Amino acid sequence: MSNIQNMKILQVNLVNWYLKSHRKLPWRATADPYHIWVSEVMLQQTQVNTVIPYYRTFLKEFPNLKHLARANQQQVLKVWEGLGYYARARNLHRAAQIVLEKHGGSIPSNLVDFKKLPGVGDYIAAAVLSIAFDRPFAVVDGNVKRVLARLFLESAPVNQSSSHRIYKDKAEKILDRNDPAAFNQAVMELGALICTPRNPACGSCPVQSLCRAYQSGKVSAYPKRIKKQPVPQYHIAVGIVYKNGRVLITRRKPEGLLGGLWEFPGGKVDKKEAPQTACIREIKEEVNLKVGIDDYLTQVRHAYTHFKIVMDIYCCRYVSGRVKLRGPVDYCWITLEEIDRYPFPKANHKFIPLLKQKG
Ligand code: SF4
Repeated sequence: MSNIQNMKILQVNLVNWYLKSHRKLPWRATADPYHIWVSEVMLQQTQVNTVIPYYRTFLKEFPNLKHLARANQQQVLKVWEGLGYYARARNLHRAAQIVLEKHGGSIPSNLVDFKKLPGVGDYIAAAVLSIAFDRPFAVVDGNVKRVLARLFLESAPVNQSSSHRIYKDKAEKILDRNDPAAFNQAVMELGALICTPRNPACGSCPVQSLCRAYQSGKVSAYPKRIKKQPVPQYHIAVGIVYKNGRVLITRRKPEGLLGGLWEFPGGKVDKKEAPQTACIREIKEEVNLKVGIDDYLTQVRHAYTHFKIVMDIYCCRYVSGRVKLRGPVDYCWITLEEIDRYPFPKANHKFIPLLKQKG
């Protein structure tokens, strides 16, 4: 695709196809930069179908930037609960506060100011500025990299961070600067609907005639990926500590993995340690309470991006001590009826229904 004419054909074919064939998604029916920003933050690492209900609920709760900026972090995390990657929510919330304080509530449309906001990296900046403000920045996500690898027979592994620059340069090169909003969305949509990871629908592809992988019969060999190391698995023991009809929950520090969310006390089971012993030890270390184990509730498994957990959950009785926190930043004794008011990680939601049922 070296000559300008081919480049033009690629742009026209992609944009025309997009205008005819794109999915009618809620964030495509708005020109409001705040709504577009929310959608792009949610769509990072997350499937469209998962995002749709969260997007609607979020905008119902926080219909404009001012509402979001003035909410407290717990309200924001509660609405985000279950969507994962909570740093996205915390950053978006903080960024909304900064936009209100420093930019009078108007989202900056220039790259330098927008990228200074928490959580705004290359992808969010290019996506929001191009879609909401028609600024000529090319987006590069997983779908885009796959399309580019096949179009250009590019061998740089798409899951290696050092390859990002290569794909970014290619994306910038083919960007239609007259209509960056439609063009960026067209490439992403092509990757989502036609140029899929397995069995791409090359027969329906608007850029088939320009695709080097298709023309050379090498579609299934692209994109290239490096083999990832298997993720480690940790064994966790958690205790539901009962005292006078209430249970103890603790809040994680506001930053880092699952930051600001609530959970039940517990922690990693040491090598050769029984999970029951770990549960009692961790509760003592974390909240300074002596507890005894009454019952085994269940085991749940959960996968995060870089590790997996197997979690054993025990029902414990309070024995003695006063809560002193080491690690968590807050705690609460709540009834099980009150549990839905607090944002919990997804792994906890895997056993909370059983806990409520048990009473
Ligand atoms: S022809 Fe096939 S491999 Fe090439 S861009 Fe289109 S869908 Fe992807």
